[in-house]
Amino acid sequence: MDAASRERLLQDVEAFCREIRPIDELCYVEHRFNDQVLPLARKYNLLGIPVPVEYGGRGADAVTYAQALARIGQEGTGVRTFFSGHTSIGEAPIMYWGTPEQKRRFLPAACRGEIILAFGLTEPEAGSNPLEMQMTYQRRGDRFILNGVKYLISNGGIADVIVTFAKGPNGRISAFLVETGKPGFVKEDLLAKCGMPTSNTAMFELTDYEVPVENLLGEEGNGFRIAMHTLITGRLSVAAGCLGVIVDCLNEAVAYAKERRQHGKEIARHQLVQEHIAGIEMDRVTTEALVMKAAAVKDASDAEPSNAQLKQQAEILAAQAKLHASNAAWDAADRAVQVFGGRGWSTLYRPGRHLVDVRVCRIYEGTDEILKLKVAAAVLGKEFEAYR
Ligand SMILES: Cc1cc2nc3c(=O)[nH]c(=O)nc-3n(C[C@H](O)[C@H](O)[C@H](O)COP(=O)(O)OP(=O)(O)OC[C@H]3O[C@@H](n4cnc5c(N)ncnc54)[C@H](O)[C@@H]3O)c2cc1C
Repeated sequence: MDAASRERLLQDVEAFCREIRPIDELCYVEHRFNDQVLPLARKYNLLGIPVPVEYGGRGADAVTYAQALARIGQEGTGVRTFFSGHTSIGEAPIMYWGTPEQKRRFLPAACRGEIILAFGLTEPEAGSNPLEMQMTYQRRGDRFILNGVKYLISNGGIADVIVTFAKGPNGRISAFLVETGKPGFVKEDLLAKCGMPTSNTAMFELTDYEVPVENLLGEEGNGFRIAMHTLITGRLSVAAGCLGVIVDCLNEAVAYAKERRQHGKEIARHQLVQEHIAGIEMDRVTTEALVMKAAAVKDASDAEPSNAQLKQQAEILAAQAKLHASNAAWDAADRAVQVFGGRGWSTLYRPGRHLVDVRVCRIYEGTDEILKLKVAAAVLGKEFEAYR
């Protein structure tokens, strides 16, 4: 991506963020879905940031996309999660694994916001281990017939196309582009969430659901590989979003600490408050360094797809960045809440909302525990993998 296009993109992201902030704050306080994210993202042409220009996107490299998501992350994990669902785990697998025809059919429409995408891997009985999935498919003529339930899917209730994984008669997993809304598709929004009230999370059930053969994504039986590869872009997006949360917590904590007075002076002059500011700043610098390194290695790997070592590095760095960033963001939000005192423990202020929302980043796209096992296996060697 050239410097001018990059600058234009980041300006558009900035304008989007400024416009979405008051709307999302109101939706949050009223505890309702923010239906303005899509039209505003459409207005600023942000619905396909890393998608190649020939398919209607902005053609951003991974580093630029991470910067964009870090800025969007400042607006809240709910707003950023929409982009992760639609782009990082929705458009990305089509970009990497789709046929030219599938790319032409789905990507430009997704970039224009005419269709919303989601990624359906998790099931009620298969979370950390997707190989235990129970959704099945069978080939019948020129169709695949899918049956089963997907659970906890970001954008699942608003998506027109869901990248859906199912197990075939031979036990191998395949990926499908499921166009929602036909008979046999039933969805339900999940509303009893601890946070992110402004974003959509849903479950859906497929009953004898017909998917035409041309909607098979990648080769039959290659679904698990597609899912794991997609988690690289997904984890990077979560990590970048968490960086944004940390930056917003820092801005909020600094501004409040300089303004709020107790014991005759601004609380920013109390050394124990400064310890929180230093802690958030350390969260910020370490997270920024790791996220940007992971994104740069992802760019290098994309430029040299046959280099297996680089691909492996990109995968482990994305996992490390996500593991570190989500814990650092949780720490930063917790410290910002503390700096705000009683007001911190309120959804009327940004730190409290960040705290509640960012907690999910230690769960989705690979829990803390699963990512730690992945990091340990990368250090110890594959023969020490604690799970398969
Ligand atoms: C808001 C939200 C949005 C989401 N969006 C999506 C989405 O868009 N698409 C999608 O497919 N999924 C999505 N998910 C699902 C998410 O990825 C899963 O919740 C996550 O992978 C964990 O699976 P689980 O909830 O079944 O927990 P489980 O796998 O049941 O894990 C429970 C606990 O056991 C631990 N555990 C499990 N196995 C091991 C092991 N071998 N060693 C050590 N500890 C272990 C876990 O780390 C965790 O602490 C979303 C979840 C949430 C909450």
